[in-house]
Amino acid sequence: MRAPDRDEFRKALLDHFERTRRDLPWRSQRTPYRVLVSEFMLQQTRAETVAPYYVRWVRRFPGWEELADASWDDVMRQWKGLGYYARARNLHRTATLVRERHGGRLPREPAALRRLPGVGEYTAGAVASIAFGLPVAAVDGNVRRVLGRLLDEGDPSPARLRAEAARLLDPSRPGDFNEAMMELGATVCTSRRPSCGACPVAGWCRARAAGTAPDRPLPRPRRRPRRASYAVAVALDEAGRTLLTRRPAQGLLAGTWEFPARELAPGGGDGPLSERAMDESPTTRAAVADAALQRLAELMVVGRAVAALEPVRHSFTHLRAVYRPVVVECAKEALDRPAATRDQAVRPGLLGLDDLPLPVAQQKIGELARQWLQGPGRRVRLDFRQGGPPSRVLRLANAVPSCDP
Ligand code: SF4
Repeated sequence: MRAPDRDEFRKALLDHFERTRRDLPWRSQRTPYRVLVSEFMLQQTRAETVAPYYVRWVRRFPGWEELADASWDDVMRQWKGLGYYARARNLHRTATLVRERHGGRLPREPAALRRLPGVGEYTAGAVASIAFGLPVAAVDGNVRRVLGRLLDEGDPSPARLRAEAARLLDPSRPGDFNEAMMELGATVCTSRRPSCGACPVAGWCRARAAGTAPDRPLPRPRRRPRRASYAVAVALDEAGRTLLTRRPAQGLLAGTWEFPARELAPGGGDGPLSERAMDESPTTRAAVADAALQRLAELMVVGRAVAALEPVRHSFTHLRAVYRPVVVECAKEALDRPAATRDQAVRPGLLGLDDLPLPVAQQKIGELARQWLQGPGRRVRLDFRQGGPPSRVLRLANAVPSCDP
C-alpha cells in the first residue's frame, strides 16, 4: 500500500471506529492503571464477559496503591469466575512492583513494560499506545486475522504481522488505531463469517478480492489437551465443617482453593478403563475413594469414605479434567490440625465457601456435596455402605443451619 493509500486506509478505519465503537467501561477513563487492568482481563476473554468484572474491580481497587495493599485472597475473590488466575497474580505483583520500583507510576516504554509479570509484546504495545500515546503497534488474535485477510496470507509469520501492523499504524492516533483494528476483528472481520459488506477497509482487502476471506489466516494447529482424573476428598465433620487446600502459587489455577485432590493414574488405578467404565465400576469407585483418603492422610486427616458423588468435568486450554468427589466423614478433632496452617482452611459449612476464591469446578463439587447432604439427590453410595442411612456424623452435619439453602 502506498503512503497516500495508507492515509485513506487509516481515515476509513478510524471514522468507522468513531461511529460504531462499543460503549465498554474501560473506554471512559483512560488512566495507565485502568488500561493495564482491562488488557489483563481481556487476555483470552471476551469484552462482554470482562465488563462487569472490570467495573467491580476498579470500584474495589481504584489504583495501584489499593491493589498493592490488598491481600491475595481479596484479589482472588474479585477475580473469581474470570478464569486464568495467573493473570490476577501477575496484576497483583505488578501493583507491588509499580509502587516499589517505579514510584507509583507505570513505565511508559514497551521494553520496560515487558519486564513486568505477565506483560508480553501485545500487552506492552496496547498499553504504550492507548495509555501513553506512543506509536507502537499491538497484534492480538483479532488483529492477526484482519491483517492475514488484508494480505491474503494463510500463515503470516509474527515478524511479518508486526511489520505490517507498524506500517499501517497511524502515528498521530496510535491508541485509537490499535483499538480500531481490534474492534474490527471482534465485530466485523469475525473468524467464521466476516461481514465484508459492512467493512470500512474492504477496498484494501486482498482476501476479499480473491474470495478467500473465510480461509484466511489458516487456523493454528492446536495441541491435543491432556486428560486427567482426580480423586477429590470432600471431608465433613459432625459440625458440618469442610477442609480446603490452597493450590501452589504457580501453574494451573495458581493460588486458588480446592477440595483436597489427588490425580489418578490413567484408568483410575484400576487398569485401562474408559471414563464411562470408571463412572460405572464399583471397583474403580473404591480405588478413587482410597486415593481421596490417601490425600487426606497426607494432610494428617483420617476419615471414612461414605459416598461417591457424580463426576465433575471441566476443560482448560490444555487439560480436560474429571473430578471424582468422595464424601469423607471425619471426627471433629480431625479437622482441627489443618485449620492452623496457612494453605489449608476449614470452613463452617458448604455454604460458607463463598468467601474463598473457588474455581468453577470446585464450586460445582461443593454444590453436589450440599445436595447430597440435603437429600437423596443424584448420589452414588459406595459399595461398602450400599443403601444404608447416613451415619451419625453426617446426619449431624446435615442438621447444621449453614448447610440449608
Ligand atoms: Fe475482513 Fe472482509 Fe474487511 Fe477483508 S473486507 S478485512 S475479510 S471484513
